[in-house]
Amino acid sequence: MAGAAGFALGRPVRGFAAAQAPAAPGSAGIQRLTDDLFVVRISGEANVVAQTTGGGVLLIDGCSANGSDALMKAIAGLPNGGPVHTLINTHWHPEQTGSNELVGKAGKTIIAQENTRLWLNADVTWPWNGRKFKRLPKIAQPNKTFYDAGQLESGARYGYIPDCAHTDGNLYEYFPKQNVLAVGDVVSNEGWPVVDWTTGGWIGGMVGGLQRVLTLVNDETRIVPGRGPVMTLTDLKTQFDMYQAVYERLSKLLNSGRGPTEAVDAKPTKEFDATMGNPDEFVRRAFESLWAYVTPDA
Ligand SMILES: [Zn+2]
Repeated sequence: MAGAAGFALGRPVRGFAAAQAPAAPGSAGIQRLTDDLFVVRISGEANVVAQTTGGGVLLIDGCSANGSDALMKAIAGLPNGGPVHTLINTHWHPEQTGSNELVGKAGKTIIAQENTRLWLNADVTWPWNGRKFKRLPKIAQPNKTFYDAGQLESGARYGYIPDCAHTDGNLYEYFPKQNVLAVGDVVSNEGWPVVDWTTGGWIGGMVGGLQRVLTLVNDETRIVPGRGPVMTLTDLKTQFDMYQAVYERLSKLLNSGRGPTEAVDAKPTKEFDATMGNPDEFVRRAFESLWAYVTPDA
């Protein structure tokens, strides 16, 4: 990981490996990607990418509401750090949109794909665990949306990932000069992800999303996933192969009339579990996601 020096705010300078370790509650681990681009990890929170531009900070995702204060402190202390001028929501989940209200009230720009704005303007309930998400107040909703793609003044580009890899409103942000790609939860590098089929995500979309992301990168690109360490092209290919295998096995189970519990019992992820962790919730959600996409008359 050349050039990936790490340091933590209010703490002695420490190495990259240490920056990857779980931090104490509320503390910030910061990984420098380039002079102006950083991955900010508030403990217990999803990854945030911050670009310092002199005139302020661009954020890709903004932690949950609980992590927002620690995030703002962390980015104010970045070299050339300052107030947020633009916040990009990679998707609607509260783990990413908890700073929207703060940024919206400050009159700054919040960018999202239009489907993300629509979800943030609706009450959502996850049927599998009853978790409820309240719509965000108007001031906290994205105030600059797009359908396909857009570009920032800095030359960084964002684009829709239409495969429904995680939700139906995910975007990527690519920094061409730095060759860094932020993809939010379309890629997770920390265990099995949530397959949020309530708002459009599905296992086939995870495969399609990885395939699409692979077309955006080269050997040198550093890919920042929604959670976990920064990745390379090789890491993405490994994930693509894994999810494709799981997708094929689950599709076979569905087509032979099996249900979610039988899918879990069939252990369709067994050779990956040692590194990925307990798969049961993931397999159940991934299987249910097939109903929405491939079952006739569902
Ligand atoms: Zn998410």
